[in-house]
Amino acid sequence: MSKIQTIGLRKSYGPVEVLKGLDVAVAEGEVVCVIGPSGSGKSTFLRCLNKLEDITAGKVVIDGFDLTDPKVDLNKVRQHIGMVFQHFNLFPHMTVLQNIMLAPVELKKGSKAEVRANALALLDRVGLADKADARPAQLSGGQKQRVAIARALAMKPDVMLFDEATSALDPEMVGEVLQVIRDLAKEGMTMVVVTHEMGFAREVADRVVFMADGLIVEENSPEELFGNPQSSRLQDFLAKVL
Ligand code: ADP
Ligand code: MG
Repeated sequence: MSKIQTIGLRKSYGPVEVLKGLDVAVAEGEVVCVIGPSGSGKSTFLRCLNKLEDITAGKVVIDGFDLTDPKVDLNKVRQHIGMVFQHFNLFPHMTVLQNIMLAPVELKKGSKAEVRANALALLDRVGLADKADARPAQLSGGQKQRVAIARALAMKPDVMLFDEATSALDPEMVGEVLQVIRDLAKEGMTMVVVTHEMGFAREVADRVVFMADGLIVEENSPEELFGNPQSSRLQDFLAKVL
């Protein structure tokens, strides 16, 4: 069984069809990178995977639960899916530790002491053990994004979705965030990573999906996709970004 599966996934905003029937399957422990030009529907696709968007047609199935089935407890399924965005969306009035503890405390993922111990362990894991009491404003962009990743991990998800997690960062901070994602991949986390870091996709992805105009134009192993692109759309895209 796939960890994540979409079947004929379509999404329209009014008369504009943005996703035009996507069939994607992600196995447990697999890392799928999604690349493609701006406006091709990558973010919309990712948001459909935890139903942050209403799905116009087709299915999204997570761990066997069909999110389009009204009987499925969406909040419960969502708790298993961590999401990290381009902009970190940390609460500015809270410390780093409070930001990480908020959701697991609210959703009773353990006693406060357990949640706190887990949050501190996660901060250590992303290399920010000394920043527990700092406010987001005191952190660099790369540090904020690492906190955002720790915050998502605090819910103990078994799927992580990344939407251009490094594209708002100064270049010197990209590496530290990619390293955290790379470590997660090594630990076997199931991930869908929308990225414009082609080198990273090539290195970390088990499979790369190229989207254009709301469709999957090509998908393949990184070696094949980057080394032997079949379609002119992908060839043109790679010529611009590589
Ligand atoms: P990408 O992440 O690949 O850049 P998006 O998924 O953000 O692409 O957007 C795909 C298309 O959907 C774009 O044409 C965008 O303008 C449109 N779109 C995205 N969100 C909305 C929305 N909330 N309302 C209307 N159109 C939207
Ligand atoms: Mg996007």
